[in-house]
Amino acid sequence: MSESSALEAAGSFAELNLSPEIQRALDDMGYQTPTPIQKQAIPLVLAGRDLMAQAQTGTGKTAAFALPLLQKMQPFANTSTSPARHPVRALVLAPTRELAIQVYESIVTYGKHMPLRSTVVYGGVGLDTQTPQLRAGVEVLVATPGRLLDHAGSRTLSLAQVEYLVLDEADRMLDMGFLPDLKRILSLLQQNRQTLLFSATFDDNITRLAQSFLRDPLKVEVARRNTAAETVEQVVHKAREEDKVDALVRVVNAREISQAIVFTRTKLTADRLGRQLLRRSLDAAVIHGDKAQSERLLALDRFKRGETRLLVATDIAARGIDIAELPCVVNYELPYSPEDYVHRIGRTGRAGAEGLAVSLVAPDEERLLAAIEKFIHRSLPPVPLPEVAPPAAPVWTPSVAVPEAVPAAQRSRRREPVCALLMPPVQAKEAPRPE
Ligand code: AMP
Repeated sequence: MSESSALEAAGSFAELNLSPEIQRALDDMGYQTPTPIQKQAIPLVLAGRDLMAQAQTGTGKTAAFALPLLQKMQPFANTSTSPARHPVRALVLAPTRELAIQVYESIVTYGKHMPLRSTVVYGGVGLDTQTPQLRAGVEVLVATPGRLLDHAGSRTLSLAQVEYLVLDEADRMLDMGFLPDLKRILSLLQQNRQTLLFSATFDDNITRLAQSFLRDPLKVEVARRNTAAETVEQVVHKAREEDKVDALVRVVNAREISQAIVFTRTKLTADRLGRQLLRRSLDAAVIHGDKAQSERLLALDRFKRGETRLLVATDIAARGIDIAELPCVVNYELPYSPEDYVHRIGRTGRAGAEGLAVSLVAPDEERLLAAIEKFIHRSLPPVPLPEVAPPAAPVWTPSVAVPEAVPAAQRSRRREPVCALLMPPVQAKEAPRPE
């Protein structure tokens, strides 16, 4: 649906009255038009309003809060070496290290023409590696909640001057049990601040959170409630548990998928699948919560550079990962929560680009599929797996005939190397396109 893509739907950045320094950074990035969430949110943030924004990853939500906040802090930008001249003015909380790093990198990019300091702190690495920068002073701090409290507790930083608070992916923060941490952090902040809450989904818990901590918030919404990105083609294949590796290899090769994130529900499955894919000569890396931070970052980095074809990931590890133009997401296992399905497939079809989400559904996952269909208000009828190519040589003759009783698909499946796979039949490839 490129006609109705996020980018085309909006006007121009010039209408948003951003400062020349920010405009220059946008030009450097090649951004031409604001996405709908940017168009809606930026003027409201500039006007000082609290916001409850419903926007999933891939809609340009990071710039929607980062650009106006940077602009508001621009008068405080200075090159002084005194820490007192660089108090934390904007605090962005994110549920995972990966998302925190990503948001931080975006802030650095958007703010590169102004002397504002920013940094990111997250768990899994030594506190003291982060302390010197905090002591030196930063205007923009991106943090995961637990690590922020560690630093606040050891008095490395003061949050007393925070004027802008962003809760990014608030639904996930609640899912991950961060509510007590959030409450403690909020108690350290001054009341007189502007708060922006971003969430892909809005349920009663999020609304309650917003009611307690936001002041007269405006609601901004870019997608229908609980809908997946319209630009993502969603395909479902039935596959028994024991056939899923074959099915995955078949889909990846038949559709010539250059890169995909493959989601599993558990770390155990992720590790096992990673090994199985490597044995089948598919270049795969695995990330999950038990991997060391350095391993996760390395795997992510290699994947972002295109050096790894498949990134096998659990939901939490993959949360918020932004990879430009990721063509495909595979649900090797359906998630237990339909919200996670929306999050997962939000990793493709970003900012107007087309994406593909393939789900491999075992018989005991059909209930999960039904819950997802209900949640996204869309039916996802299963389509056959892409066909396997018949053997190219030797030419098949009656004298070496395989018995008639063996169906053609099984004959070829037994003998074919994966490189001899055909492109999928038309109906599988064209099948259900979101309207
Ligand atoms: P986000 O939803 O913030 O994770 O952003 C998704 C992706 O869209 C990121 O790769 C951004 O760099 C990109 N992006 C954000 N805003 C724009 C824009 N106005 N034009 C083009 N790309 C954008």
